[in-house]
Amino acid sequence: MEFGWFEDDREFRHELRTIIEQELPPRWADLIPGEEVASEFVLNFCRTLGERGLLTPHWPSEYGGRDASAWQFIILGEELWSAGEPRGSQYMNVNWIGPAIINAGTPEQRAYHLARISRGDVFWCQGFSEREAGTDLAAMRTLASRDGDDYVINGEKVWTSYAGVADYCFLLARTDPETTGGQGISVFLVPTDTPGFSIEPIPGVLDIHEFNRLTFRDVRVPASARLGPENQGWAVVREALSHERIGGPRYARAAQVAERLEEFAREYGELDRDGLRTRFAEAHAACHAARLLVYRAIHERIKSRPEDLAVSQARVAIVRSERLVAELALDLFEDESLARRSTGNAQLKTAMIAGLGGGSVEVQLNMVARALLGSGRR
Ligand SMILES: Cc1cc2nc3c(=O)[nH]c(=O)nc-3n(C[C@H](O)[C@H](O)[C@H](O)COP(=O)(O)OP(=O)(O)OC[C@H]3O[C@@H](n4cnc5c(N)ncnc54)[C@H](O)[C@@H]3O)c2cc1C
Repeated sequence: MEFGWFEDDREFRHELRTIIEQELPPRWADLIPGEEVASEFVLNFCRTLGERGLLTPHWPSEYGGRDASAWQFIILGEELWSAGEPRGSQYMNVNWIGPAIINAGTPEQRAYHLARISRGDVFWCQGFSEREAGTDLAAMRTLASRDGDDYVINGEKVWTSYAGVADYCFLLARTDPETTGGQGISVFLVPTDTPGFSIEPIPGVLDIHEFNRLTFRDVRVPASARLGPENQGWAVVREALSHERIGGPRYARAAQVAERLEEFAREYGELDRDGLRTRFAEAHAACHAARLLVYRAIHERIKSRPEDLAVSQARVAIVRSERLVAELALDLFEDESLARRSTGNAQLKTAMIAGLGGGSVEVQLNMVARALLGSGRR
């Protein structure tokens, strides 16, 4: 198959590159995606994109989009991710929080939240994981109990990225305490300044990424904060997760890092040692394979065909591309990679994040095995 872009897709990419060139200060060339997530600059940049209809172009125009194709969704991701992701944490709003509200929201929720997201005015975080419920998300215990017209939420979430700067939390909680597994779970759209909702940073080895613990003590939200039907949150989330898994086109930046590393190796006469030339070829091929597998998942989405398998395969390929480039960086720079923010260190941490954030890659492999071989637990 020969893959090519339509003229309007090329023009769209060009439009984005022009804005990036005009708006991004030089320091962004050295930033790692995830490092600057909610600064004044990020807010202004998102608002600039929003004013030009470029923050949510792939959304329907009635919700602040341009009715652009899913291809332009991925072009947007590739260009911005390669530039250090100047949307900061708002990439989550655009990729899957907004689409989840479009799919499952009431007219009031759509009117309130989607306009803010498409203007670039708001930061969200995603409260899914708990201490005993990461991979096994359905084991979550945070409870939302119905009390008249309200729900009262109690529990704890961990590893919540960017919560310290978020205005809202897209929260998963159990609404039927008698159930286990995916039954009896609902989604809530919770303002982070609601009384009883506290956020505390979790220090960790991934110093380029901000994590938090969320505690809910009798957090009272109106029933109108529930997204989708009570106890049916799993269906809302399944769709959201599929958007999340390929929402960060990491291969685009990994390919750039691989090119820079190869240039460095050539310049310092290292290219012919230890089979490096072959490994660079493998890394470039892995980035290219990840790109094509993501495009295949987008193709399935456009054709309204089930995309789960294609998404999982693409996700595995994305992680593999990040890891191959990280291994090359470590071999080239050796001890220097211990230095914080060095190329080797940054690529290693980026690769670690890739394999866990948004669900671990091993579980994606299980999903691929189950779909193709009819085996595997999840
Ligand atoms: C950078 C980053 C950002 C994150 N951001 C968020 C966020 O914003 N919101 C949020 O809710 N969560 C977030 N998380 C949490 C993330 O979703 C979980 O770390 C992930 O789902 C894994 O869960 P766990 O950490 O509990 O590990 P565990 O589930 O305990 O897994 C530990 C290891 O065991 C393996 N494993 C587990 N079960 C199986 C199985 N059945 N088959 C094969 N291998 C298995 C896993 O692959 C993993 O390697 C983030 C994590 C990271 C690293």
